[in-house]
Amino acid sequence: MSGAPAARLEKTAVNYRPARKERRCGTCVSFRPEDMACELVAGEIHPAMVCDRWVPLKRSHPVRA
Ligand code: SF4
Repeated sequence: MSGAPAARLEKTAVNYRPARKERRCGTCVSFRPEDMACELVAGEIHPAMVCDRWVPLKRSHPVRA
C-alpha cells in the first residue's frame, strides 16, 4: 500500500463538534482550508467546528476568495 495517505482519526474519536468561541478549526494549525480538511481528522472539516486536538494558530487561516 505504498503511497496511501496516513490514516486519520474519526470525528467521533476526537469529539468533533460545533465551536462556540475562537477555539475552532479555522484557528487550528491542522486545518487545511484549501481542502476543507484536517491533517489529523478524517472527512470534510468546517472552520466553525472544533475537536479535542485543537492547537492554536497565531491567527486565523486566510479565507480563500
Ligand atoms: S480542531 Fe480538530 S478537526 Fe479542527 S482542524 Fe484542528 S485538529 Fe482538525
